[in-house]
Amino acid sequence: MGKNVETHQFQAETKRLLDLMINSIYSNKEIFLRELISNASDAIDKLRFEAITNPGLIKKDEELLIRIETDEKSRTFTIHDNGIGMTRQDVISHIGTIAKSGTKEMLENSKNKDVKELGDMIGQFGVGFYSAFMVSDRIELLTRRAGEDTATKWVSSGDGEYTIIDSERDTHGTTITLHLKPEDKENGIDDFSQYYVVSSIVKKHSDFINYPIKMQREVDKPELDKDGKPIEGKTVKEIEDNTLNSMKPIWQRSKSDVKPEEYAEFYKHISHDWQEPLETMQLQVEGRLEYRALMFIPSKAPFDLYYRDASVGLQLYTKRVLIMDACKDLLPVYLRFIKGVVESADIPLNISRELLQQDRHITAIRKRLVKKVLDSLKTMSEKDNEKYLKFWAEFGPALKEGLSSDFENQEALMGLLLFQSSNDEKKLTNLKDYISRMKKDQEAIYFITGESRALVENSPHLESFKAKGFEVLFLTDPVDELVAQSLNEFEKKPFKSVTKADLDISGDENKEEKEKELKAEQEKSKNLLEFIQKHLDADVKEVKVSSRLVSSPACIVAGEADISAHLEKLLNKSGQEVPKNKKILEVNTKHEILKKMNERFEKNKDDATLKDMAELLFGYALIAEGAEIPNPSRFNELMAKMMQQAIT
Ligand code: ADP
Ligand code: MG
Repeated sequence: MGKNVETHQFQAETKRLLDLMINSIYSNKEIFLRELISNASDAIDKLRFEAITNPGLIKKDEELLIRIETDEKSRTFTIHDNGIGMTRQDVISHIGTIAKSGTKEMLENSKNKDVKELGDMIGQFGVGFYSAFMVSDRIELLTRRAGEDTATKWVSSGDGEYTIIDSERDTHGTTITLHLKPEDKENGIDDFSQYYVVSSIVKKHSDFINYPIKMQREVDKPELDKDGKPIEGKTVKEIEDNTLNSMKPIWQRSKSDVKPEEYAEFYKHISHDWQEPLETMQLQVEGRLEYRALMFIPSKAPFDLYYRDASVGLQLYTKRVLIMDACKDLLPVYLRFIKGVVESADIPLNISRELLQQDRHITAIRKRLVKKVLDSLKTMSEKDNEKYLKFWAEFGPALKEGLSSDFENQEALMGLLLFQSSNDEKKLTNLKDYISRMKKDQEAIYFITGESRALVENSPHLESFKAKGFEVLFLTDPVDELVAQSLNEFEKKPFKSVTKADLDISGDENKEEKEKELKAEQEKSKNLLEFIQKHLDADVKEVKVSSRLVSSPACIVAGEADISAHLEKLLNKSGQEVPKNKKILEVNTKHEILKKMNERFEKNKDDATLKDMAELLFGYALIAEGAEIPNPSRFNELMAKMMQQAIT
């Protein structure tokens, strides 16, 4: 029947691409369906566009749709659309050639690559229509341009040539029939003639396509008697016509139109989570770069939140086609728990992961998304503290990572931090509230790091802070040591660790007086301090009179550049080499123990008890810090000796 039969050779690049495709081990073969649907959807878009000026193109009751039919026996897969269709010349120039810029160069560069690498490259080509050859031995395309009478048939086995024939088609649009390769699960070829296979792929990749994607299936329905009651054990075959996609690009709808449960459903679909999201964030940006984003904070942290190779990232759509399922470049790592979708028409459909990373649109979008998330969290923390506490319990540690990586948003991130503090036993505080409680003569935001609240709460370092009524933040998460390093200032208030050696909280008025007093004390006990330092020389670099201690005899302080005792312990635990870090020991010369020691020292500089006391003091200070004592059995021995002396 066909007239005007012609056989054409594919362009060299096309041929090469087809070879690549047919022989490729690219595993994600199901995406051919996404590509065909995307083309069909585009074709309907184009028809709709043309119909604006030429309304006759669409018949009055014509439903614009995509229809899929399969035949298990003959192993065919057919997709119809009633879109714009193609003329004979269109087919030759669009289907027979690859017009995409860059493809040629990429193919040139691929000449010396091995099969594995080539397989990976296919994903980057994103070669649309041709991807159907991954799953087909032969493809037939029948198309009729809207507004024309003749149709065109195109047939190819992907082996270097195609045949083109004048043909007939009832209406405008395109029908593509794939003669499927045999099922081959190992190589990613499912049985695409099965309803459930097709429907799940559509759901996965093309759910939000604007037009219905319909497919019929035969179902067994109970046979009804004349009263309309089912007859037990009897069924009849019935054809059910189903729409496979929800057709709802939910992020395209205005927030007020979408019900919370619709958001939740969508969230569950993209996240595979069964729970409701904790927070939904929608963003619509217009201007030079246009995009929409729909993001969610889950209610629970996934088990793999801290695994490096967990699959994270947002879905990226362009023109309603999913081009990346987990795009890592849209959010920084510390916000990896966010789920969602971004759609931008400005991102090319076939962009590779590598190119995407450098894409300036992506960079701009990312910046805006981070701001959106941080703003939403800020609002949540101000308006719904209970919800924010839930968020914090799940994702606080992840958020803290941002302090040391996202300098641009450091201030915003600091505003979101919650801390345990000496102010309240149970309630966490943020920095703003801390500052509002600061005393008049308080210069800094004070914090202490350590293993647990119980430990830091009783640290000798806090004694003078308690006496002064200065609040101290307790940083007791494992990541808090890292956090502490990033805490420089917040709202112009500097952060200070209470364990640092040069810390002075005496206040301005009596500063000089205090210093004088301290110097006098230091002078008075100078020889004893030297004696203690010499005896502990292996571990202690300096012994000083303390101004911070009230009831404790001694404590360890860290020099400006020293790492804290807690961090040292953490590093040791994780098996890292920590350079020997000699300590500064501060002693409370007003304490009874030190007074007595000084007396004995004045009487007899070689008093053996003094050496034991020095070691015990050092051990005491280390334990108070939650740090490890260098020689625990030695410490115990001394302790037993002292106990015996005390009791006899
Ligand atoms: P792309 O969609 O990126 O342009 P494809 O390889 O998927 O690349 O398709 C090539 C071209 O073939 C399309 O641009 C379009 O002009 C034409 N085409 C493909 N499928 C259809 C269709 N169903 N209806 C009309 N035109 C189509
Ligand atoms: Mg396409």
